[in-house]
Amino acid sequence: MTAKFKANFDLTLKPDYRPLELEKEIREFWEKNQIQKRLMNFREKNNVGLAGYVEGPPTLNGIPHVGHARGRVIKDLRYRWKTMQGFFVPFWAGWDCQGLPVELEVEKLLGVKNKRELIERVGEERFIEECKRAIMKYHREWVEADRKLGVFINQEKAYWTYKDEYIEREWQYLKRAWEQGLLEEGYYVVAYCPGCQTSLSSAEVGYEDSYKEVEDPSLYFKFKVANSQNEYFLVWTTMPFTIITDMMLAVHPEAEYAKVKVENEKWIMVKQRVEPVMQELAIKKYEIIETATGKSLEGTRYDYPFKDVIPKQAELDKHPHVHTVVCEDFVDVNTATGVVHLSPGNGEEDFFAAQKRGVPIFAPFDDEVKFTKEAGVFSGIFARDTDKMVIEELRKRGLLVEAKTVKHEYPTCWRSHHKLVWLARKEYFLRTDKINAKIVEAAEKVEYFFESPKNRFLSFLKEGKPWCISRERVWGTPLPIWRCENCGEKTLVASKKELFEKALEKPPKNFELHKPWIDRVAFKCEKCGGIMRRENYVLDTWHNSGASPYARFTDEEFEKYVPTDFLTEGIDQTRGWANSLLLEHVILTGKAEAPYKAFLFQGLTQDAKGRKMSKSLGNIVEVNRLLEEYSADVCRFYMLWKCSPVDFMNFDLKELSRRPHQVLSTLYHLNRFFLQNAEYDNFNPQKHTLEWALKEKQLKSPDLWLLSKLQATISECTVRLEKCEFNFALSTLEDFVIDSVSRVYVPMIRKELWTDDPQTLNRRLAIYATLWHVLKTVTLLFNPVTPYLSEALYQRVYRKLDPTLPESVNFEGWPKPEEEMRKKTLEEEFQLLFKCVSLVYSARQSARLKRRWPLSKMVIVAPENICSAIKNFEEFMLELANVKNVEYMQKAPEYTLQKGWVSTSEDPIQVLLNIERDENLIGEGLMRDLARRVQALRKELGYVPTDILNTVHIAELDEENIRLLKPYLRDMAELVRAKNVQLHGKREDAKLEWHEYQLDEKKVYIAIA
Ligand SMILES: [Zn+2]
Ligand SMILES: [Zn+2]
Repeated sequence: MTAKFKANFDLTLKPDYRPLELEKEIREFWEKNQIQKRLMNFREKNNVGLAGYVEGPPTLNGIPHVGHARGRVIKDLRYRWKTMQGFFVPFWAGWDCQGLPVELEVEKLLGVKNKRELIERVGEERFIEECKRAIMKYHREWVEADRKLGVFINQEKAYWTYKDEYIEREWQYLKRAWEQGLLEEGYYVVAYCPGCQTSLSSAEVGYEDSYKEVEDPSLYFKFKVANSQNEYFLVWTTMPFTIITDMMLAVHPEAEYAKVKVENEKWIMVKQRVEPVMQELAIKKYEIIETATGKSLEGTRYDYPFKDVIPKQAELDKHPHVHTVVCEDFVDVNTATGVVHLSPGNGEEDFFAAQKRGVPIFAPFDDEVKFTKEAGVFSGIFARDTDKMVIEELRKRGLLVEAKTVKHEYPTCWRSHHKLVWLARKEYFLRTDKINAKIVEAAEKVEYFFESPKNRFLSFLKEGKPWCISRERVWGTPLPIWRCENCGEKTLVASKKELFEKALEKPPKNFELHKPWIDRVAFKCEKCGGIMRRENYVLDTWHNSGASPYARFTDEEFEKYVPTDFLTEGIDQTRGWANSLLLEHVILTGKAEAPYKAFLFQGLTQDAKGRKMSKSLGNIVEVNRLLEEYSADVCRFYMLWKCSPVDFMNFDLKELSRRPHQVLSTLYHLNRFFLQNAEYDNFNPQKHTLEWALKEKQLKSPDLWLLSKLQATISECTVRLEKCEFNFALSTLEDFVIDSVSRVYVPMIRKELWTDDPQTLNRRLAIYATLWHVLKTVTLLFNPVTPYLSEALYQRVYRKLDPTLPESVNFEGWPKPEEEMRKKTLEEEFQLLFKCVSLVYSARQSARLKRRWPLSKMVIVAPENICSAIKNFEEFMLELANVKNVEYMQKAPEYTLQKGWVSTSEDPIQVLLNIERDENLIGEGLMRDLARRVQALRKELGYVPTDILNTVHIAELDEENIRLLKPYLRDMAELVRAKNVQLHGKREDAKLEWHEYQLDEKKVYIAIA
């Protein structure tokens, strides 16, 4: 009988929790039986409602790392949980394929340094093919990572942002914007990356990690007041090159400005800054000779110094406002000199100040941010490289006051880390600033779960800047606007069909909605008959992915699934996808409505030491490599359990293998313990239900207590999941498994399972009914977190015992708490019991007595009602405390004042413990110490708990120990499930395989025969 059982068990639940093996088997089971696909089909037909979802598409320009894994695990948790609750979630994949990040990756692969080289050497056609090839390479990595992680996302229904059908639907957003007058071309100051040779959106400029400490010039210079002898405006800048495009000086109208006498010159600056600036310039002798408001300086002309070397500036100087002082509220009078020089070609505020006054914009730059011919002697030089020349020109003219350098935080390109330059350029904009109130209103209705990301997102949205969507790049959605070469008339097309109808020449067969093919399509101008050509831009990649709620669905699906129920992405997406989704949806629908009802922003994932993961530090943990060695379930559990989803997480492999592994391993072994015992007694879950056990009056207080605790666990776990407090949901489960089931319940009932007495069979079956219900429910609660382990337990324990169950754990419903099982008084009473036990433990600790050593007596001193409550569960308390007898008192009895008693207390309970051990107690304690080692050996040798051993041999015991142990050999045999136990002085029998163990200071040897 024993042998047969063993074979059976080995086929099912192996003695050790080996998650890697188990996960491989379960993955094969899922794939062979198409569980993922069938689950989705099942829920599509049988559901309690829809929970819309659209995948935040990962960019296919790199390999997935643990930071990505954390997000995917949260998505999968949500999917499995909602599915178990009965909702249909269109959990369909999506891939972000176009845009700068992909282009730069491909440039790197091709060894191309810049865009010009790319166009000339590689050509657009081949470049597009290379981009497609690159994304497919990374796509394989991502799909494999999802597969290993156990993410049940549907890959077959994935959307691809570069496909024509997606692009056509993305164009619908532009069409709506065009119709509402929200899509405009304009001259505007944008952040421009000289490396990527394209402009960036203001969202991108604020990107995580884009600010770097850089060294720049710190320059004090002066502009001479026109027609004065020796009066100057004192100005400060860190960007000397902008003096080339200088147009005006600005002062704050209400601030008090001073004329400061320095040697024989008078310098004009804001009064409150005179002292600190003079100190900085190390000028000791100075005197304020006159003050006036900023307003009174308005209109003052100054001599722009470079008219001789920049002929265009000489020409612009004729304009009434050019090279004069203007008043602006944005002037900061708390830094520098309070006199700001304005370069409308290089600054946003400067640009507005110029527009307001009709001052022309002077922006003589080419695509590489080199000065054009209009910049005179500076022509052909990269803007930032003219800084030194400008300083030299000022020095020559005696206008340089001081030139030092300063280290400061300066925005760089989030992709290439070039220092950004602000340039006035002709671009296309979505005028989201015009509908900002609606956008903010829409965003305020969304559930964000946590305050800080919500505030961060809303305050970013409130900036309400126009969205620059045009990019001077290649691999992206083409801007579908054609302009007449002759009269400037513009037209927008929003479908391939329309484009084909208008095309002067029929596009070729291999035509696709990409450069260069689309650029070859010309139209005839309806107004003047001229030729219309496409505006040579592609779209910001964030527009591309932000179009997904409409572009990835059909019209019918869009109606059903949008606004989506719940989305989650990294905190960096406040400026990325969460933003573009929102803006585009408000444009598309015209409503103050976000395309998501809830958005969880996750914190970023860092290395074990709290450093950002980066290529340069070499600390990036790739998912696919990680999961070759580590369990997906343990990783999933760890990522959700370690901290709140909004926190930055320090991913630590050492920590991963400790507690998370222990929790899952405990769950595994509890199930194995249950299965082995239940099968031994022919437990039948269909017959031996909880109802049956109740009717047979076989449920005892530990069972009722555990069932009650389970209800509390279900509701707590569910509530925490609703709030996205995954870490708290998991610590609830952790406590239940480790404390309630493993440390309390099992020790209380274990002894009852040791016997195979037919008289007590029904009691044992009632315990199995309890364990079946509790452990199966826990297995379901773990499923969204540890799908492999849950499926393995479901198949090998629950479906094994009850083949009528659904074929996968995922088809099960989410557990609901059952109020009638909740016994609050019982829980409170058990709480008292645990308190007594923990007081016994601390008394033992102070007397250095192991928990395994039985003691003779304890006294509980407590109010009567507490005593009588504990009395009800006396046998269980004594079992846990490992004490033979208990007395209850309202006052500590005299005899406990004598030697041999230890007291511990926690109001209102005092526990007195007799720590004296006679020979009997010492002998029993020794027996238990040895029994524990025999149990370990049993396990090591692969015996299951129900196997009955023939003989256990224990050797190298001294005579004293043998004498003490003799009376307990029967008990020991029962405890270790052996027919008999033999004690030996020496290891005489050479045929036995002896195993060495440490017992206190001595060595003992154990053999099983
Ligand atoms: Zn760049
Ligand atoms: Zn025309």
